[in-house]
Amino acid sequence: MHRVPNPPKLPVIAVAESRSRGGHGVAKARLTAMLLALLAASATNASEIRADEEASVATVTTAHPAANGNIVVVGTDPSRAATIREHAEAIRSEAFSQLLGRADPKPWLVRCEIHLHSSAESFEQAVGGSPAEARGATSLEFSGDRVVTRRIDVMGDGPGIVPDAIDHELVHVVLADHFIHAAPPRWADEGLALLFDTPEKQRGHEADFQDARRRGLAWSAPDLLALEDYPAESARQKIFYGQSAALVRWLIARRDAATFIRFLDDAAQVGMEAALDRHYAITSLVSVSSAWKEVAPINTLGLSERRR
Ligand SMILES: [Zn+2]
Repeated sequence: MHRVPNPPKLPVIAVAESRSRGGHGVAKARLTAMLLALLAASATNASEIRADEEASVATVTTAHPAANGNIVVVGTDPSRAATIREHAEAIRSEAFSQLLGRADPKPWLVRCEIHLHSSAESFEQAVGGSPAEARGATSLEFSGDRVVTRRIDVMGDGPGIVPDAIDHELVHVVLADHFIHAAPPRWADEGLALLFDTPEKQRGHEADFQDARRRGLAWSAPDLLALEDYPAESARQKIFYGQSAALVRWLIARRDAATFIRFLDDAAQVGMEAALDRHYAITSLVSVSSAWKEVAPINTLGLSERRR
């Protein structure tokens, strides 16, 4: 299956693939470390990795059932880390259930590390981009049909105990379990993650987009659907977020989230146009522009308001 490259465009390596999300690339230092690790691991094969992982998980399950979580929080005191971890576990379950129809998802054998940063410098060093552009970033690494690294970096300096970017970034991590062989299209990946942002944040994105549309600065539907990378300019990124979110909400509102995921699966196989026709009876990419006029409600999934 064709793999849609994610930024940064990495050399194609047979053993593993790295993707990053959230508007930032993987930090150069971490990227170098990862590539060195890959070179070191090139003598190993996927089945060895799997065997090691299963053995360690078996130990954890039998000896320390209480420690058997899916998420590890790093960079803050134990009490705040515990609160964040509990919140993140709940969002993980909600995202699996709402987006992938998995009410009882399998545990992550490779836990998701959430790294909190208290300064812009620390965030920038880890992520390679400023928190002024995006306050969270997700890094994923793949080996064969497995995710071998799950990492979220977020700014932890906001007013809430739970950093504001966590829910959004967790959606990217959850989606990776389904889109293991090829990343979903950028607009779909971002649009789905944005559904988990607070209603205020989502309304802000919607306003950015509608303002750009009035000024003739939005993408045409075919151009948005074909976009392979995040726009480089931060002003364009804002429009991209708002426009992607509007399209995802509109398509989900026409059917449901399960249909939307099946549509994305089919789009990877038979092309966007054929998949739109099959799942939504939309016969031309241009017709998708109706999404901009028939604005779907912000809380398309009916997510419960979450206290932080
Ligand atoms: Zn995102």
